[in-house]
Amino acid sequence: MFLKELDLGHETKCTCGSCKGTGIYKGFAEHDDLGVVCHYCNGKGYYTLELNENMQLVQDEKTGTVYEVSDGLIVGSVSLFNELQKRDDVNYVMYSTGRVFSPEYLFEHGASEINVIRYEEFIQGKLPLPMMQYTCPRQISQSYGNAEFDNDCEFGCFSDCKKFGTQECWKKFYGEAKTIEEKQNVLKKVR
Ligand SMILES: [Zn+2]
Repeated sequence: MFLKELDLGHETKCTCGSCKGTGIYKGFAEHDDLGVVCHYCNGKGYYTLELNENMQLVQDEKTGTVYEVSDGLIVGSVSLFNELQKRDDVNYVMYSTGRVFSPEYLFEHGASEINVIRYEEFIQGKLPLPMMQYTCPRQISQSYGNAEFDNDCEFGCFSDCKKFGTQECWKKFYGEAKTIEEKQNVLKKVR
């Protein structure tokens, strides 16, 4: 291997492996052209790799593969993030509810275009607002990374919590944010 050291600073954006850099996950619960915001990167398509002084990134000049080196040992490979990758199988985006949905079913049953946004809007940087009745803010901020939310939750399991799907928790989560855009900005802070 011909390895050269990359000097990209202490923080490097790496492609999220779960959504392959698209920011969108589509599994068995997402029917038709529905996708959900990726749990691992919160729709960004990348995660930020923080390098300490004992770590480097090196690139194999032949294959282009980038390796993460810690204390002189290769500990893994990463893919450098350039831009959000496009998907051609998704037209609508929402936050996961853990339920099986299609866009047609959602709109027939009163879902709003605030909760289920068009893929073009997502590409432009918008996020859907989670459907309050099907999820709780702790579920999102826990599985989405470091942001913490606690409203004296009463659970075992999220859906067992007496407050699950209630306005009380969402009001606390959004805080001062009132408009859709302000609420989207709260969601963007969840890592
Ligand atoms: Zn992702």
